[in-house]
Amino acid sequence: MNEILVSEIFGPTIQGEGALAGAPTVFVRTGGCDFRCSWCDTPHAVLPCNRPTWEPMSAGRVMGRVAELAGFRPLLVTLSGGNPVLQPLPDLIDLGHEAGYTFALETQGSICKPWLHKLDHLILSPKPPSSGMAFRASRLADCIDAAAVGREFSPDGGGLLTLRPRTQISLKVVVMTEEDYEFARYVYRAFAVGASIPFYLTPGNHTPPAGSGWNDAGHEFDQEGVLARARWLVERVARDRFYAARIIPQLHTLLWQNRQGV
Ligand code: SF4
Repeated sequence: MNEILVSEIFGPTIQGEGALAGAPTVFVRTGGCDFRCSWCDTPHAVLPCNRPTWEPMSAGRVMGRVAELAGFRPLLVTLSGGNPVLQPLPDLIDLGHEAGYTFALETQGSICKPWLHKLDHLILSPKPPSSGMAFRASRLADCIDAAAVGREFSPDGGGLLTLRPRTQISLKVVVMTEEDYEFARYVYRAFAVGASIPFYLTPGNHTPPAGSGWNDAGHEFDQEGVLARARWLVERVARDRFYAARIIPQLHTLLWQNRQGV
């Protein structure tokens, strides 16, 4: 029981965006998401019609596959989706930690789990207005609190083991439009600045892969359009003297466009 619904495991490759951009990693992409963003770039891990391709796997089997791909040398494991917090991941994280692996998890912050503090890195990526999804500030706050507390209790009921927070939290907002940029500024002011949480902006890809069911356009990747948005964002941040923001284009889309499994 307690199996993890896995859409794909691939790598080693690099993390393409945010605080860990460029870091070698193996991805564990889980199946299923509580959101349906208009520009979702992983419909194969989101839509129920793709569920037959998702495999229930034990934590041990997932770690076995990760270790095989990694050449049995511990590295960063990126837990992505879909929304990975929908899956029972604590055993996987514990198992990986025992073997020297570190874990990053990316989620939109719509669902909080008490085990978020087990992660080494938590990347919270609240979705902006262009996604078409509602933003619930209290849920994002809950995720930050759960990861920041870092309290570990003895499994035998012997009480509190440590209060040391080990989870590095970062915030990342995809920006497609001016409205998204204003949303990002709000998220920074409301959640990042007071808690000294590193803050990243990602120029969005308006030409995601087709087949989502809510986005069947069959786009050709518009590299020039994405780079133009990145330049606009740099100018926008400079004009506002928004110096706390870090702008990082998605390296994986620049290198591999919309290809899956890289
Ligand atoms: S939250 Fe992420 S995985 Fe889920 S629909 Fe939105 S972009 Fe896709």
